[in-house]
Amino acid sequence: MNNKLKVVQEEKAWYEDGLNFNCTGCGKCCCGAPGYVWVSEEEIKQISKFLKLSTKEFQMKYLVQVGDKFSIKDLRELNHSCVFLKDYKCSIYPVRPKQCRTYPFWPSIMKSKKNWDDEAHACEGIRSFYPKICKEEIEDKLTQSVK
Ligand code: SF4
Ligand code: SF4
Repeated sequence: MNNKLKVVQEEKAWYEDGLNFNCTGCGKCCCGAPGYVWVSEEEIKQISKFLKLSTKEFQMKYLVQVGDKFSIKDLRELNHSCVFLKDYKCSIYPVRPKQCRTYPFWPSIMKSKKNWDDEAHACEGIRSFYPKICKEEIEDKLTQSVK
């Protein structure tokens, strides 16, 4: 086999032909288990502005500090629901953090087709009957998620 062609074939991503996904807005990825929703300094500024709060007020009311990072509070008594989940919808949707915007295209999930298929148990948007998200869009989200 032509060596160059072999390399190109080997470099093909397993999701080369795209992946079927459509967020239904069910909100299940925003609750259900303890976890962190990390927010960067820039995101803290954007969300504070959206909520018409100072960054200090926002931080006090909605964030927890973990080491030198900040995460959005979850409500343990309400199935660990993110504090911004209202009636199964994200109440800060236009400025939701990168971690939320890029799910389920996270490196840990995109590592293999098996991980992707397993994630369908948690996310009802991963279904074969939904339209395909192309490789370029997937990789754009993947890149954003690790920045
Ligand atoms: S679990 Fe999946 S379908 Fe439901 S809101 Fe989250 S990303 Fe969307
Ligand atoms: S910020 Fe919004 S999208 Fe992210 S976990 Fe909270 S409710 Fe869900």
